[in-house]
Amino acid sequence: MQNTNPLKVLKYCPKCGSSQFKVSGERSLKCESCGFHFFINSAAAVAALVCDGNGKLMLVTRGVEPNYGKLDLPGGFIDPGETAENAVRRELSEELGLKIKSLEYVGSAPNEYIFSEYTVFTLDMAFKVIPESIIGLKPMDDILDYKFYSEEEINYDDIPAPSIKKFVKDYFNNERNS
Ligand SMILES: [Zn+2]
Repeated sequence: MQNTNPLKVLKYCPKCGSSQFKVSGERSLKCESCGFHFFINSAAAVAALVCDGNGKLMLVTRGVEPNYGKLDLPGGFIDPGETAENAVRRELSEELGLKIKSLEYVGSAPNEYIFSEYTVFTLDMAFKVIPESIIGLKPMDDILDYKFYSEEEINYDDIPAPSIKKFVKDYFNNERNS
């Protein structure tokens, strides 16, 4: 398995192009030519727990790598300058044409997202979403399909991202105890 950690992948300074771009500590690289110091931080992302009103939860089928064809929660990366709440609204609109009635922050979990043979460390933030309507939704953008599941209908092995698996499990645990 290839090492996709940014500390191994990045070989040249992205600012001046020097090859003297060296690992500096556990999560940064520093250019010995121009002094540019690059930090490996977490990218912020959102995941939506969309309920159907009858105890079922929406999962979507991914239409993009990584994990093409596997189950996920709707969501995605937060754009620079955007709030997490707005990212939830935007992603649900882009992926499903879904409008939100209300949303509530649930919690966060870290994840590692490998794209272009490069690990992006993410912090996934989960929001519980009450939709205005679940009629007439259409899978678009980077998802192939969507469906509402009871917990019995979910095989957790089909959800590859550990953060997403945790959000789904916690959701059903909380529903049971409420
Ligand atoms: Zn440089």
